[in-house]
Amino acid sequence: MTRMNPLLERNEQFARAYTPAALAPPAAQLVVLTCLDHRVDPAIVLGLELGDAPVIRNAGGRVTPAVVDDIAFLGFLAEQLFGDQLADGTLFEVAVIHHTQCGTSLLADPGFRHQAAEATGLSEVALEASAVADPHITVKADVERLLTSPLLSPKVSVSGHVYDIATGRVTTTVDARYPS
Ligand SMILES: [Zn+2]
Repeated sequence: MTRMNPLLERNEQFARAYTPAALAPPAAQLVVLTCLDHRVDPAIVLGLELGDAPVIRNAGGRVTPAVVDDIAFLGFLAEQLFGDQLADGTLFEVAVIHHTQCGTSLLADPGFRHQAAEATGLSEVALEASAVADPHITVKADVERLLTSPLLSPKVSVSGHVYDIATGRVTTTVDARYPS
């Protein structure tokens, strides 16, 4: 028994009408970074179809060293596979999307953070770094963090956005920029 059973039935419906997507540059020319929160699924919120955009998700949608590594690898891969097909010389844009009512906002409270560190063995510093108390502030900080990483390809641009859980609306906080 697995709780996957009802979802496997849905997958069966999906597979019946399925056509595989070809290996090609992401149709949206984007990589999306957002929170793992189940209310923030970018396929639904942004209407992403198969083949549109790679999606990286973690607690808060934060730019962590692991995320920087993934984006550096995706940049290398895109350059190798599709580097000669680029319309404007851009490999892709990374859209960082933070959201309101993020569960990580609880980590902004030192007491809660201490308790979480004790219970999980994670460091308080790491937990503090993942907190999204005000998504407008953290998304700007994370766009900067990515743009100033020495691992980011100069052919990758970065933008910042906030998803409002109450309205379902995504607004752009930082327009796309290249590393300087
Ligand atoms: Zn969240």
